Amino acid sequence: MDEQERVDGGEEKPEEKKGSDGAQDADASEYEDICCICRRPASKAGKMIRIASGLSICQDCMQKTFDSMNRAGFPIGDMSNFGNMPNISMINLSDLQNMNVMPQSQKLKKKKAKAKEEKKPEPVFDIRSIPAPHKIKESLDEHVVGQEHAKKVMAVAVYNHYKRVASDSADGVEIEKSNMLMVGPTGSGKTYMVKTLARLLDVPLAIADATSLTEAGYIGDDIESVVSKLLAAADNDVERAEHGIIFIDEIDKIAKKRNTNQRDVSGESVQQGMLKLLEGAEIEVPVGANSKNAMVPLATVNTRNILFICGGAFPDLENIIKERLNKQSAMGFHADLKDKYDKEENILRHVEVEDIRKYGMIPEFLGRLPVVFALDALSEDMLVRILTEPKNAIVKQYQKLLGMDEVKLEFEDGALRAIAKKAKEKEIGARALRAIIEEFMLDIMYEIPKDDNIGMVTITRAYIENTGGPVIAMRG
Ligand code: ADP
Repeated sequence: MDEQERVDGGEEKPEEKKGSDGAQDADASEYEDICCICRRPASKAGKMIRIASGLSICQDCMQKTFDSMNRAGFPIGDMSNFGNMPNISMINLSDLQNMNVMPQSQKLKKKKAKAKEEKKPEPVFDIRSIPAPHKIKESLDEHVVGQEHAKKVMAVAVYNHYKRVASDSADGVEIEKSNMLMVGPTGSGKTYMVKTLARLLDVPLAIADATSLTEAGYIGDDIESVVSKLLAAADNDVERAEHGIIFIDEIDKIAKKRNTNQRDVSGESVQQGMLKLLEGAEIEVPVGANSKNAMVPLATVNTRNILFICGGAFPDLENIIKERLNKQSAMGFHADLKDKYDKEENILRHVEVEDIRKYGMIPEFLGRLPVVFALDALSEDMLVRILTEPKNAIVKQYQKLLGMDEVKLEFEDGALRAIAKKAKEKEIGARALRAIIEEFMLDIMYEIPKDDNIGMVTITRAYIENTGGPVIAMRG
């Protein structure tokens, strides 16, 4: 009786849920089935036997189950008296149907079936569709202020990288990967540039922090977790992930630790561990989770065509560069002053691989990041431009917000400069701008909507310097 009720109950539900189930099925066809016992996808484990909606089992596991039942002496041939056995309760499959057995985030998107007639797979990036470097730079210019050298280097490196992805090596010439290493003070736009680039190219991007990475087996994230993040950013589509970008920030924090007797699990070992990722390897990554465990399906991602960009502030690197430059200029017939470079502002521009090696990055690691370049520290002028020029500039955002209330917002040049000056003092680059402007705009955003007659607000230098207020003009 009890059994009967359960079956009835199970049959009622699908009637009401038909609509949403249909949508789910269509969605599911794009994703691979995963064995609910061993968690391998169909592409690895072979044909799946569907035992309930959303629940499959591979033939290996099915066989193992039968084998173990056989060994335990179950009369498999005669299932009729199965239900009468003491202490054996069979799983009710209809119960399992209603459970959220496999969350969508843990499913793998199927690889697209290749047309039978085509022999060679079509390159994902058609060379003609990769924008030329000057086009890439032009698009970057719309968002990123200054950093001309960095934008140029990045545009060329990205162009070459995707050309390499599209090329074949049949003629024996294999173009090497153009992984990048960016050196630049905090808040100078490293992450922002990579994000902008990924958006322009419409490729998935994963951003990871090198400080959280440790050698496999220690507390912290495994190095391979960065690939797992990329797969998530590509909606579990392995093919898309394999052409994505991985940005590893704070790379200077995994420099070799000096004077240490302990095992360096978060420094040099992480660099060692990253070598094969940077070069290109088949990595087994958990789908929809950060760590591998028995409950998570695995996917194989090849990192050969993934573009790796590492970024770091490398504090004190200036001193290493200065020392080298001063030594060079003080030698030979054309010897210069010993301290010629001591006062130069953007000393990071002279960075060379040798300096970074001295800083504590191992040569094998640097060898896999052939494109090394530096970003300039943001000057006051650049900060003023960042406030107003980019497509998504903060000032434009506030103007739009107040524009919705039909109020015009203006900033005096002096006010912009005063904000930039305050930001520069904080020494966290452009990140300080938002905090400062938000503080001053709070009262404005609170008071202005109170009075419908206000037509225009001008932010003055005095207001920013706390010696006066904004100028408010009425409509008409
Ligand atoms: P970093 O990664 O170098 O520490 P971010 O890329 O996070 O710095 O920069 C912080 C913010 O500053 C970005 O979100 C961006 O809005 C702004 N920013 C920094 N540099 C620039 C720039 N050159 N042009 C436009 N905006 C910038």
